[in-house]
Amino acid sequence: MSLRASKITVLGSGTSVGVPTVGCHCDVCTSNDPRDKRLRPSILVSYQGHNVLIDTTPDFRTQALRAKIDHLDAVVFTHAHADHVMGLDDLRPFNFRQKSSIPIFAAPECMTAIRRCFQYIFDGVKKESNVPQLDPRLIDGSPFDLFGLEFLPIPIMHGRQMIHGFRFGNAAYLTDHSEIPESSMELLQGLDVLFLDALRYKPHPTHSTVDRSVRTVEQLSPRRAFFTHICHDLAHERAESMLPSHIHLAYDGLEIQVAP
Ligand SMILES: [Zn+2]
Ligand SMILES: [Zn+2]
Ligand SMILES: [Zn+2]
Repeated sequence: MSLRASKITVLGSGTSVGVPTVGCHCDVCTSNDPRDKRLRPSILVSYQGHNVLIDTTPDFRTQALRAKIDHLDAVVFTHAHADHVMGLDDLRPFNFRQKSSIPIFAAPECMTAIRRCFQYIFDGVKKESNVPQLDPRLIDGSPFDLFGLEFLPIPIMHGRQMIHGFRFGNAAYLTDHSEIPESSMELLQGLDVLFLDALRYKPHPTHSTVDRSVRTVEQLSPRRAFFTHICHDLAHERAESMLPSHIHLAYDGLEIQVAP
């Protein structure tokens, strides 16, 4: 495991429909707390001048402008649900600026779904206008190196579907999951920072809940934990006040320094 200091920027902390949720007038959707405004789930990992993005959400353009991302070296995908891939076309400005293709990493099933969704990007047919220039790379269970930082795929169960979280150095990002296999728990020891799905309080067939993720944090004992993929059932201030002091709710724009 290569150890390197990194910075995580939370680009989006919300669930698939985002918060506020279209048409909803609840306390959270109408809250004035900026931490209750959650775009779709994604983080940026920055280290030694490199930027690695995890997932391209439908909000990616807004997120990249807000975080002032001016270059992107690679994209890593967790799975191909719409809230994690639909911003893929908005990688084009980075192609223009960098004059090069961008490597994208995904497991075979995920890459197949991305190729199907964005057939025009990958069909090899010469276009009259610009399409994203991408360099698809398949991942298996093995760790892979990105600019001197090792990314370790962590299999997690998202309902019946197996998807990937990632560990990089002393941090891990486990979005959409309802269960973490025992063999994956063993890969998550000794963390400084753990991000994990905590959709809401009520059970959900494909997502973790606040109680379940608190238990996961108790089992893994990271130094700090941040809940993400949050729906409008959780008001930031109230929900965080009920958590142990080392567990926080992530919010859009949050920046975390990860110890090497
Ligand atoms: Zn999701
Ligand atoms: Zn609401
Ligand atoms: Zn999902």
